Amino acid sequence: MLRKWLVTLIAIAVLGTGMCWPAKVHAAADVERVLTTSDAQTMTEEERLQELGSLIDQFSALTGIPWYWLAAINQYERTLNKVIKARQPLNDRLISIYYSETQWLGPFNPDPNDTNPASIHFFGGIGSDGNQDGKADPNDPVDVLHTMTSHLLRYGITDKRMRTALWEHYHNPRSVQRIEQFARMYKEFGKLDLSKRAFPVPVRSHYSYRSTWGAARGWGGRRIHEGTDIFADYGTPVRSTCYGIVEVMGWNRYGGWRIGIRDIHNVYHYFAHLSGFQKGLKEGDLVEPGQTIGWVGSSGYGKPGTSGKFPPHLHFGMYRDTGLSEWSFDPYPYLRRWEKMEQASR
Ligand SMILES: [Zn+2]
Repeated sequence: MLRKWLVTLIAIAVLGTGMCWPAKVHAAADVERVLTTSDAQTMTEEERLQELGSLIDQFSALTGIPWYWLAAINQYERTLNKVIKARQPLNDRLISIYYSETQWLGPFNPDPNDTNPASIHFFGGIGSDGNQDGKADPNDPVDVLHTMTSHLLRYGITDKRMRTALWEHYHNPRSVQRIEQFARMYKEFGKLDLSKRAFPVPVRSHYSYRSTWGAARGWGGRRIHEGTDIFADYGTPVRSTCYGIVEVMGWNRYGGWRIGIRDIHNVYHYFAHLSGFQKGLKEGDLVEPGQTIGWVGSSGYGKPGTSGKFPPHLHFGMYRDTGLSEWSFDPYPYLRRWEKMEQASR
């Protein structure tokens, strides 16, 4: 069966897309490993990313779809699965793309366990058989990725067409925006592992902070404190906490001069009350963990330029995207972890 799949791969490559022998098709041993790996639950994160990279490379070589789009779609789905309870088991799989039963099997399919590609197609389902084992199995990562790439290929492989294809799949501008952001990050940084973190101020500088999440605060009506205040001197560098993309930058009447950075886990890192921004930094820029983005200040609580209404500090918040809304969660335990990690590596 393994040999058959490899032969099929080559056949698709040569006949289907008219390409020459794809340079990136892996040895039979690699195909075998991917094929037998439907479950990512038992893998370390490093192993998971390696297996995922191998599978994505093969699909990319065969279809011409840039690897970073495939990685971005899968990663976006993982971030949603994390917050939607019924979808959480999908993250134990190598490919975590979600299809509803109706989407996969077809709206009028009477058999909820149907894996026959012909009858699924007949009932209007999109589930397809990627590894040519005669089954369109929603639990098989190759079949799931094949179903997604088949959809994408109907539109084309340029970035613009990819956006149209994503819109047609998700019907949600937010989903398309996120996947585009993720694709840019993967493309620019050139790797799947973008999990490195940094403490937002240099660990050798003078600063102090404690857990204050959820406390009441005084200005701007009844709001709770959605973040951690790191007290430090004016001008202390503020650094990106993650690999990410600058999503928002400018003045906000509460946060003053503030920056919002989106990371690959679909978490929004919020830095407020800055005295200024790093020169040249702008919305849409990609940043790395530890990169200076601005300086500690006391801006905010008024019209643009208002400053000095409270002692200088960095307000740091984290917000998780659920697909339709965002909610804040306590960054304090993460700050402690990043701080310890950096102290240990000095
Ligand atoms: Zn604060």
